[in-house]
Amino acid sequence: MGTCKRCGQCCQDVRLAEPPELLKKAYEYWRKSAEVDPGFSEIYLIYPMLVFKYENASEDLPYHYYCKHFTRDVDGSPGCSIYEIRPRMCKEFPYYDEVTHLNRDEPLSPYDGCGYNEE
Ligand code: SF4
Ligand code: SF4
Repeated sequence: MGTCKRCGQCCQDVRLAEPPELLKKAYEYWRKSAEVDPGFSEIYLIYPMLVFKYENASEDLPYHYYCKHFTRDVDGSPGCSIYEIRPRMCKEFPYYDEVTHLNRDEPLSPYDGCGYNEE
């Protein structure tokens, strides 16, 4: 099993299946509703931290975003400014045990050179 090499790609190029319009709509709905389980809708809680970059319709995860919390340590290495409270999708990347539709035979991470794609 590979490990994170701290290249920073997945924070500078967060890739999702959801377009920004859907994230915004769901986020605004969640904010107004006391009935939505934040655990269920966590994907939508990340809307405020993402900046939409571009869409590539030919990819499985076509929507690319930049995370506002991406930072660099004093030595220049990539880091997360909210590391202790980062969303679950960041903590669990790229395993997502509860996501059943993922093809586990394919590389775990969509990022070239990601340490998690190594043995
Ligand atoms: S792309 Fe992979 S190796 Fe690079 S920071 Fe993200 S998890 Fe770590
Ligand atoms: S919250 Fe932190 S770990 Fe998650 S994408 Fe942003 S910078 Fe990366």
